[in-house]
Amino acid sequence: MIGSLLTPGAPTMLGILGGGQLAKMLAQTAYRMGLHIAVIEHGENSPAGLMTKHEFSQGWNHEGDLENFITCVDIITLENEFIDPAILDRIAERRPVFPSPDTMRLVQDKFIQKETMQKAGIPTPRFCAVDKETDAYDFAESVGYPIVIKTRKFGYDGYGNMTAKRRNEAYRAWMRWGNYEGNDPDQVRPIMAEEFVDFTHELAVMVARNRRGELAIYPCVETIQKDHICHTVIAPARLDESIRKRAQDIAVSAVEAVQGVGGFGVEMFLRSDGTLLYNEIAPRPHNSGHYTIEGCHTSQFENCIRAVLNLPLGSAEQRTPVAVMMNLLGERSGPGIPDSVVAMMQSPHAQLHLYGKKDSRKGRKMGHLTVIGNDIDTTLAEAQRAVDDLVW
Ligand code: ADP
Repeated sequence: MIGSLLTPGAPTMLGILGGGQLAKMLAQTAYRMGLHIAVIEHGENSPAGLMTKHEFSQGWNHEGDLENFITCVDIITLENEFIDPAILDRIAERRPVFPSPDTMRLVQDKFIQKETMQKAGIPTPRFCAVDKETDAYDFAESVGYPIVIKTRKFGYDGYGNMTAKRRNEAYRAWMRWGNYEGNDPDQVRPIMAEEFVDFTHELAVMVARNRRGELAIYPCVETIQKDHICHTVIAPARLDESIRKRAQDIAVSAVEAVQGVGGFGVEMFLRSDGTLLYNEIAPRPHNSGHYTIEGCHTSQFENCIRAVLNLPLGSAEQRTPVAVMMNLLGERSGPGIPDSVVAMMQSPHAQLHLYGKKDSRKGRKMGHLTVIGNDIDTTLAEAQRAVDDLVW
């Protein structure tokens, strides 16, 4: 193990469960802070795995690799919520893990997560578990179509969601995932149903919380999705200060409801009558917080690491009045970097982040870019121009 660099006796080898772009940006920050990293992921040469010689590429389900990873690190965090909490328990017996396995148990299953939030007094869309086919129809009868049917676990970027506008579409969702005789056991997923929220805006707030319960609360941002994937983030959201403040309060309550330690993204819906409804919590750095690298005094990645190490948290305030982040989603099957960045780099303020994924696929998150500025229209236009100027 490597000696302490931050404070005497403090951990310095940070283990990250997962090796994607979130782990990569955590690692970039960790190195700047004098830490070292180890990464465990299923497969070699992940974006973060490429950054360290302590890359364990057979994943956490592989006994030997998991053992070597644990031995190598002082403290562990994660970049995705899909790891089995029973494995996290085993890891936690040997090394501190944040967010904790208990937090992950509350978060990983969207139904349990929403129940937890409801108990904490946080407003959510109406929802129910769908354990048999008629549960979805009964629910739709009480809240009205459309309803959104979601797999309770392992959903991301909308994979695992189906909007049912009528009964036959709810039936289709049940036939796809339902636990009925004749369904392929590999297809079966526990599912839930939610009322369809007719929102005007989707909002998100990043919160970092350390082990002493200290908080760094980021601005409320507007997230714009296409096909259930986040495309653009505007910070702060173009809304009344009072709404933004309420969103921040909900985000803090949500993180406290799961006793979260680390960095968390809390997603919400705003309806035209001004009500806010909780959507979900990500127990890790979040796409809606990438703008914080250039846009805030302390990035979400740095405050996540500080929180995990139980250090004081840095200011989450924006450096400039506006920040815009746009995702670079794969448009083709081919190489993972653009054919040319020359035109894009003529943009004076756009900061390009490429994740170093080998292959591009349609809809895959290949990178993002951020522009910070003083005025929303100019900043948004510059970001859009920079995205358009990339040649793929
Ligand atoms: P994931 O975990 O895949 O990100 P979410 O549950 O956040 O899934 O859903 C992805 C997107 O689907 C949301 O950002 C939103 O645009 C839409 N969505 C999810 N739930 C609802 C709902 N109850 N009503 C309307 N739209 C929804």
